[in-house]
Amino acid sequence: MNADVYRLPARDVPIIARPEVCVVGGGAAGLAAAMAAARIGLKVLLVERYGFCGGATVAGLSGTICGLHSSGDRPEQIVFGFAGEFHDRLQRAGGAAAAVKFGRTKLVPHDSLVWKETADALLRAAGVQVLYHAAFLDAFADEAGVVRTLVLQCREGTVAVQPTCVIDASGDAEVIHRLGGQTTFGANGVVQTPTMIFRVGGVDMPRFLELDPREIDRLAIAADQAGRYRLPRHHVYLFPMPNGREVLCNMTRISFPDGTVPSGLKSADLTFAEIEGRSQARAYATFLRENVPGFADSYMVETGAQVGIRQTRSIVGLKRLENQDVLKAAKFPGAATFSAWPIEAHGAGALKIVYLEDQTYDVPFETLVPQAGPNLIAAGRCLCAEHEALASARVTAQCFGMGYAAGAASGLLVREGLKAQALTGVQVRDWMQVKGLKTAEQR
Ligand SMILES: Cc1cc2nc3c(=O)[nH]c(=O)nc-3n(C[C@H](O)[C@H](O)[C@H](O)COP(=O)(O)OP(=O)(O)OC[C@H]3O[C@@H](n4cnc5c(N)ncnc54)[C@H](O)[C@@H]3O)c2cc1C
Repeated sequence: MNADVYRLPARDVPIIARPEVCVVGGGAAGLAAAMAAARIGLKVLLVERYGFCGGATVAGLSGTICGLHSSGDRPEQIVFGFAGEFHDRLQRAGGAAAAVKFGRTKLVPHDSLVWKETADALLRAAGVQVLYHAAFLDAFADEAGVVRTLVLQCREGTVAVQPTCVIDASGDAEVIHRLGGQTTFGANGVVQTPTMIFRVGGVDMPRFLELDPREIDRLAIAADQAGRYRLPRHHVYLFPMPNGREVLCNMTRISFPDGTVPSGLKSADLTFAEIEGRSQARAYATFLRENVPGFADSYMVETGAQVGIRQTRSIVGLKRLENQDVLKAAKFPGAATFSAWPIEAHGAGALKIVYLEDQTYDVPFETLVPQAGPNLIAAGRCLCAEHEALASARVTAQCFGMGYAAGAASGLLVREGLKAQALTGVQVRDWMQVKGLKTAEQR
């Protein structure tokens, strides 16, 4: 045996659950998937490595719901379904601000704690069994490719679950990858850059709200060029939080000194990104305090619990969402959701934004179905999409929509005995109507 390899001893582990559906990941997609499956009466287990739901939105502090609104002169909410329901619940609990302008469209800043509470309450009411602090480790299929066993690392040790159907909402296509399913990684291996998001308090909000956002960009460029701070990103996003006293700062851009992008799938790269992200966040917060009107008394409240990772693996699905589908506002008969969100590609050198004027495109359900695994569906940002198409489709409202459709589809697998690869998006939409699950355009 290779001297640098240690062979793990084989051992028995307890089987702790046999749910009808196991959802791996409690981000926007996983939450929606678990809710849809539970609402049609399935026995659902949701497995999440952190102690709360929200994923990139909460742990990564991405902090706003993008993708609910149209794009054009008068953006208005056009995406509803589970995304709309969750937004409305956040708003009723004081956890969502009024929608704010973002270029030609709008987004909704939200509060992370209220997000966690809202997700907990929804899951409890729907009867979903939730297992936090449980990391998915491995998956095993039988000879026909049917996924039989998932292995989890829980606090008490390694355990197994044996679900009838699996939804991979890990963001990273972890389950599909462990099963040997095909995945891609960015455009020829180049993914979008990570960002460490942070919040600042002590802001003079009326003054902040009067600012032209592009004025902050101009000040950042001047301060960076004068060498006073290290501010690698010049097109920055600042949003008022629902509490009316804090500002969410999406300002940093993390790449290695040679310009390459850290991988969200490697611990050493993530370590670099966390440390570099905190260092940049501090520099940007100092820049704000010392240069930007309204920030003179501001202070940093927190950074994300983890650095924000925009992109890792995408599955190779039955269908791929192409860049042209987004740009040409393509429509598909079996859409899991739809979107007017721009292509918003955060590259190591620049940020590219392409708006869709008064247009929307559809995300076909088949982008969530891997090529193998009759009881396996994906949901969320690991959908099968070309690089720039993903830079649009990955936002929160669409992840909710994809998750809800995937959760509904799991009912067709479990109750009707269908195979994932034989499902069509049209069938899933019809089933959602029959089961009273709202599709993304339904209020
Ligand atoms: C820096 C940044 C800024 C962004 N800004 C915005 C924004 O302003 N508005 C917007 O709408 N979108 C924004 N996005 C995009 C959006 O947040 C994400 O694309 C979206 O939340 C993805 O949802 P998801 O459910 O597919 O995946 P995730 O949110 O990544 O959820 C995956 C979940 O799976 C869990 N998980 C992963 N692996 C395992 C495992 N092995 N075992 C158990 N659990 C596991 C994770 O902990 C996580 O909770 C931003 C993203 C980033 C990174």
